[in-house]
Parts: sequence; structure tokens; C-alpha cells
Amino acid sequence: MKTNLAQAIHSTPEGKEADRILRTCVHCGFCTATCPTYQLLGDELDSPRGRIYLIKELLEGNAYTAKTQLHLDRCLTCRACETTCPSGVEYGRLVDIGRNIVDKHVRRPIAESLKRAALCAIVPTPVLFRPLLKIGQVLRPFLPPTIRRKVPKAGPAAGAWPNPRHSRRMLVLDGCVQPTLASDINPAAARLLDHIGISLIKAAAAGCCGAVTFHLNRQEDALVFMRRNIDAWWPHIEAGAEALVMTASGCGTMVKDYGHALAHDPAYADKAKRISELTKDLSEIVADEKDALEKAMSSSLSSLTSPLSSSSGAKPRVAFHSPCSLQHGQQIRGKVEALLVAAGFELTPVPDSHLCCGSAGTYSILQPELSQRLLRNKVEALESGAPAVVATANIGCLTHIQSGSKLPVRHWIELLADRIAQ
Ligand code: SF4
Ligand code: SF4
Repeated sequence: MKTNLAQAIHSTPEGKEADRILRTCVHCGFCTATCPTYQLLGDELDSPRGRIYLIKELLEGNAYTAKTQLHLDRCLTCRACETTCPSGVEYGRLVDIGRNIVDKHVRRPIAESLKRAALCAIVPTPVLFRPLLKIGQVLRPFLPPTIRRKVPKAGPAAGAWPNPRHSRRMLVLDGCVQPTLASDINPAAARLLDHIGISLIKAAAAGCCGAVTFHLNRQEDALVFMRRNIDAWWPHIEAGAEALVMTASGCGTMVKDYGHALAHDPAYADKAKRISELTKDLSEIVADEKDALEKAMSSSLSSLTSPLSSSSGAKPRVAFHSPCSLQHGQQIRGKVEALLVAAGFELTPVPDSHLCCGSAGTYSILQPELSQRLLRNKVEALESGAPAVVATANIGCLTHIQSGSKLPVRHWIELLADRIAQ
């Protein structure tokens, strides 16, 4: 794609990066075939190719309009288009740059601005999020169905976290909402890794990865979260922690990008790059330890019964929803599925498994209509193979899908940890 960026933009690091990305797009339109918003709306401007044109116009100093802002807002940042694109267009990075520019020029309605400010203040802050959720859960029975659906029921209490006893140690990110919404995910990861010779530890001062704030176009605020986490993790890295384990794939995508986000910060660039190199999704860690896992599970693998099994003792049937942040953002495919099969589960088929469930960070709140349409399609696809349980790898997807399904929806590590506990 030929570009002619406005001088004021072209001289910035973001402008240079956007120019490089735009020039890789050859307009072929293959990406439109896998774009969820194009499938729903049928408007070229709600497709990756259309949005790329809009961003090009923005960068050339035109199209500072509410209409451009709307089409960029409607994008889920699911990055399915990146997986499909034969030219390697880094659409996710481009749309972040485009949104940042349009938001600087186009003022949002006051109610919309307040909603975004509230999300930036509450979601990454557990001392605010936790009590507000508790109040919502108490009032849940009295809320109208459309709001009730958005307030998740209280989940099971957190199980035990084993004391660190192994020489192999890895850091885990607790994150912001996950400990409140599904408090046993990280303890389950710690129990499972403990069985295979790895102690999982937390850095007390670490918190939200910054993704929520970053994708709401408060990118400078997000950098503050990133620097705080790096400061919290660094002493553990220097003390020999092997890896930084992500149990939420959305956070993993963000932390793997710290090196890029802080590349122009001389005080943090090198550390951020190292942090990103050490960051692994939990499925990458467990898959690398498959032999140790199979040994730890050998007794339960020989008798494939669990609370999820049918009375005939058949394998428990699981539908796996691979979050966009896992399959497109991190390009990790097939690892969780292989681990579930190795642990004695039967995977049920899931049509259109490349499509987003509609959670997409704060998208379910900011674009509720499109989000609900995607949720209905996703739940129908997940339930079509008659599973007993749905598994996923990201807290946002987990709570969103649970809001639309009567089946239990769990993190895959909880299913594996249950298996080891039998
Ligand atoms: S598939 Fe890639 S190269 Fe083709 S239009 Fe989409 S982004 Fe551009
Ligand atoms: S990120 Fe997802 S919603 Fe956005 S343009 Fe790409 S495929 Fe479409």
C-alpha cells in the first residue's frame, strides 16, 4: 500500500511503525473472511481491510471523524485477521496507533467518556472491583435480566497453594480481576506445577498487566502498570525465576509485548525485553513438561472417571474455547487441546473455533449488542458437540461464556489439577 503520511505523524516512532505496517498490506482482502465484525455487519469499513484504509487516512491527516472512531471501536482486536493475512500485516499494532490518534482528535459523548474512565479506574484496581462485584452479587436476584447476566455468580473458593519447595521456580501473574472472579485458577496452576517439580511464586507488588488501560487508549497510564510490574518481578528474575507464567492468555499477550511497548524508555527497555522473552502461557510450560505430567497423572489416567464422566465411565467430554489472545495474539494452537486429551478428556468438535466469543476485554460492556450476538453464536458452537463442560484459557472469555451457557465453564488447568487430585 502506498502511503503519504502527514509530516507531524511520520516523524514519531508510532508514525514510522504505522507506515511500515501499512506498506505490507496488499489489499487482497483475505482477512475479511475471518473477521467477526465483517461477518456480522457486512460493511467493508467493519473489516480489517476497511479499517486499514481508515487508519491510513487518519495518518495522512484526514478522516478525524466520529465515523472513523466508531469503526475502530467496533473492532474486537481479536487479531483473527493477522492469522489469516498472507502478508504478515501487524494489524493489532496498527489499530492501537489508529485509535490513539483518532481519540486525540474526536471528542466522545460525555456518557461514553465517563464509562471508559470508570472502566479504567475500576477494572485494574482489585480494592474497587472486589467490593463492587460483591454488591452486584448480593443484588443479583433483584436485577433486570440484561444486567443480571453481566454479574457473574460467586465461584468456588480458592484451594490450597503449595509452599515453594522445589529448586525450579517460576513467577505467576495474579492480575486484576481473575483472583476475584475465579480464585482457584492460579492455586490450581500452582498445585499442578508442584506435582511436576516446579514451585509457582507471586510477586506481591505486581498487579494488572496494563491491557485494559492500554486498549482503552490510555497508553501512558498502561506504561505505569508495566513499569510497576517489571520492578516487582525483577528481583525474582535476578534470583533465578525461570519464567513468568501467564494463566490468562489476554495478560500473556500484553506482557509478551512489554518489550515493544517500552522500547523507547531507556530506563526500562532492556528489562522489558527480558521480561517479554521470559513470559510463557501456562500451556507452553505444561506442554514442555508433558512427561512429568503424564507420570504425575498415571494413576488417574488408568481409571478415567471423574465427576464429569458419564455413568458408563466414558471419558469426560470437553469443548475447548481457544481465546483469540491465545490462538491469534500469541499464535499458540493445539497445546491445551493435546494436554486435555493426554489427561483423559474427550474433546468435542467446535465449529468456527477461530471466531471471537465477544468478550474482548471491555468490548462486552462498550459494544454490548455485537458482543451478545457473538456470544450466542459461540455458545451454540461450543454446546453443539454435547460436552459436559467448557474449558478455556482466559478469565474474560470464561465469565463471558458462562453468562450465556448453563454448562460449567472452567479454566483448563482446573480440569487437569482436579484430575491429579483424584
Ligand atoms: S489479508 Fe493482509 S494484505 Fe490482504 S487486505 Fe488483509 S491485511 Fe491487507
Ligand atoms: S482484529 Fe478481529 S474484529 Fe478487528 S479487524 Fe481484525 S478480525 Fe476484524
